[in-house]
Amino acid sequence: MSDCLFCKIVNGEIPSKKLYEDDQCLAFYDIDPQAPVHFLVIPKEHLASVSSVNEKNDAVVGHIFSVIAKLTNKLQLGSYRVVSNIGGQAGQSVFHLHFHVLAGRDMTWPPG
Ligand code: AMP
Ligand code: ZN
Repeated sequence: MSDCLFCKIVNGEIPSKKLYEDDQCLAFYDIDPQAPVHFLVIPKEHLASVSSVNEKNDAVVGHIFSVIAKLTNKLQLGSYRVVSNIGGQAGQSVFHLHFHVLAGRDMTWPPG
């Protein structure tokens, strides 16, 4: 999608600090980290949020979770949180599906 920030990161129009890339997804560090380790994993295909996932496109979500497991194991993150905000009230600010991976500090529950 031409006016989507994360599509621009996928196609290289906007730079990012890449952690991992393959044909289906991209992982890069968050520009405004909320924990000592904070990166995002996104599908290369534009999907607005979890609400846009369906039986035709859901394979990429499983793939993203296997990439999250691979990266967090490689980074030796024993404990971490995976978050996806859906909609403005939940705090979504970029409307391209993404999973936050946060680690390196104590986390509170429930989230604010
Ligand atoms: P959310 O608010 O859940 O939609 O998450 C969007 C995330 O994207 C926020 O944590 C932002 O800090 C992050 N973000 C925005 N612009 C960039 C960028 N250019 N590079 C990396 N992360 C970004
Ligand atoms: Zn997009």
